[in-house]
Amino acid sequence: MKRIKCPHCNQNNSLSGESTPNFFHLFWIPLFRVSTNQVVRCDHCKKGYYKEEFTKDMQAVFEK
Ligand SMILES: [Zn+2]
Repeated sequence: MKRIKCPHCNQNNSLSGESTPNFFHLFWIPLFRVSTNQVVRCDHCKKGYYKEEFTKDMQAVFEK
């Protein structure tokens, strides 16, 4: 997976992408999958970037 620089702490190669399935929960039982959240997280400052705030570089993390 491509790793890129974090715009928050300027640490190189610290961002990695993760796809988190989003389940609709009823009493802690996952009923069905609503969507998949794509999140880019920085290993250095632990800041997470959500799809709405992705830069082009972050988007590219998910392209294979
Ligand atoms: Zn960072």
